[in-house]
Amino acid sequence: MKAAVLHGPRDLRIESATVPAPAPGEVLVRVKAAGLCGTDYRIWSGDRPVRYPLIMGHEFIGEVAAVGAGVTHLMPGDRVAVEPNYSCGSCALCREGNRNLCAKRTAVGIDVSGGFAQFARLPARCCWLAPAGLTEEQLLLTEPLAVMVRAVARAEVKPGATAAVVGAGTLGLLGLQVLRARGARVLVVGRTDRRLSLARQLGAEAVHALAAGPGSEAARAFSGREGVDVVVETAGTPEAVAGAIELARPGGRVVLTGLPHEPSQVHFFWVVRHELTLVGSMIYQDEFPEAMRLLHDGAVTVAPLVTHRFPLDAIGDAFVAYRQPDSIKIAVIP
Ligand SMILES: [Zn+2]
Ligand SMILES: [Zn+2]
Repeated sequence: MKAAVLHGPRDLRIESATVPAPAPGEVLVRVKAAGLCGTDYRIWSGDRPVRYPLIMGHEFIGEVAAVGAGVTHLMPGDRVAVEPNYSCGSCALCREGNRNLCAKRTAVGIDVSGGFAQFARLPARCCWLAPAGLTEEQLLLTEPLAVMVRAVARAEVKPGATAAVVGAGTLGLLGLQVLRARGARVLVVGRTDRRLSLARQLGAEAVHALAAGPGSEAARAFSGREGVDVVVETAGTPEAVAGAIELARPGGRVVLTGLPHEPSQVHFFWVVRHELTLVGSMIYQDEFPEAMRLLHDGAVTVAPLVTHRFPLDAIGDAFVAYRQPDSIKIAVIP
């Protein structure tokens, strides 16, 4: 099979590799499409160290090609979305129902071979059967959508509430739609006008470009009071985290999903004075079925989010496109 193998920072080579055989409890997936996100970019550029050589790619979908012994809930030909994280199952966190926080969690495409290849071998429990009728694009966005399903659940948003989403990339534009599905009115705060007009198209009642001034004023104008009820932060930059806190009303809730890799200057005076609740939200653990349901019901639209497609042979171009302002979700097709 063909695979994109990372040998070191920015050293990604298309090579031929042996098709792996599924062990007991595993499946072999023929990869149909793999999304590229900021995590992939950080691994590719060397910002995030990994063990080389590595076949990256953690947001992928495909068709079951073979199943190992003992796998009964999947069969060859099944269309699946891959949940690329699996926990150890035995530590205190896993036993407490916090498997997304397991310190011994294995991430497919980061710790072990992933989906930038024609085939990938995975534990069967990583595969979620696609409901009939989901398009390939919808299936591909299931993984980031599951992140947002969890984040919005942790926001404890009530129908009629006001919400702000910080960041208008893939996660922000999906989070906006999940908030809408839960009955919230949504303001999207972002950088580029192109993405903000897409946010409008996808149901944002108001948008605010950061270049036009601080988001806090926009949040006050939008909510008609001191700020919005809930904030969902998806950008993950230190400035975005600090700015997100200023959008919430006193007594509001701020959910952080972006991973700020540098320390953030948070004005904690604001948190105490306004009795804000700050909540982290880390990937997902049981949110794939709900993400698929939202897609199936049409509550979440993904077609405008997939802006670029590259064949596996041109994966280098996919990493270049990732940095361009007009790209949202990039798909690699093996
Ligand atoms: Zn990702
Ligand atoms: Zn564990």
